[in-house]
Amino acid sequence: MNVALIVAAGSGERLGAGRPKALVEVGGRPLVQWSIDALAQVSTIEQVVVALPAGAHPARGLQPRPGVLFVDGGSSRSQSVHIALAAVQARGGQDDLVLVHDAARPLVTPDLAEAVIAALESDADAHAAIAAMPVTDTVKRVDSAGAVHETLDRSSLWAVQTPQVFRRDALERALDIGAEELARATDDAWLIERDGGKVIVVAASDENLKVTTPLDLRVAELLLAERGAIAGVPRTSA
Ligand code: C5P
Repeated sequence: MNVALIVAAGSGERLGAGRPKALVEVGGRPLVQWSIDALAQVSTIEQVVVALPAGAHPARGLQPRPGVLFVDGGSSRSQSVHIALAAVQARGGQDDLVLVHDAARPLVTPDLAEAVIAALESDADAHAAIAAMPVTDTVKRVDSAGAVHETLDRSSLWAVQTPQVFRRDALERALDIGAEELARATDDAWLIERDGGKVIVVAASDENLKVTTPLDLRVAELLLAERGAIAGVPRTSA
């Protein structure tokens, strides 16, 4: 069976909410609760492990659910993934997949999670499948003095999201490195790529947005309200 890891241990300084981002209320629930509720609806996921900021006890507005375990996260995002993976209690089988999701994306749907799992299941050579979107902006490489050095070819650029789904043994190997290297990873797929692993993308939508700034939070609030999601996470496309 598969497991899901939700990383929610960031401080969320850019949000300026005065408390960890994952615990900020959006649509009447702590931000992280939306992801827990969505992933708990995926029938092939047996256990969900949530990495919270150290000391943020689950009682702080989070609903206990069977199959959901809370752990203290680490000093970097991938360190939190590492800790959460080590805490997985579900029995491990050779074909098990591990889904990793950022709590900062509360608009994830069960359908998107299932699509990313299905993509990896149907490509025997791949080590990971990741939600992503083709880039629509023109992207330039700019130096620290503000001078443009290069305009990248947009046709092959994708902006990466979560969920990201991994073969369990490949993720365990990729995470088995020092804390400094783990801290350099802004996503876990990169750890697989740099070892020569095969990572495939699954087209997602921009509705699966990442909450970083107060504006993002307002947009997420509007979208969640529009979905009528207060009563539950609807199984619409992501
Ligand atoms: O900082 P950023 O927004 O890129 O973080 C992405 C996700 O990683 C967030 O959901 C955040 O809570 C999580 N994270 C974590 N542990 C850290 C840093 C970030 O779980 N030490």
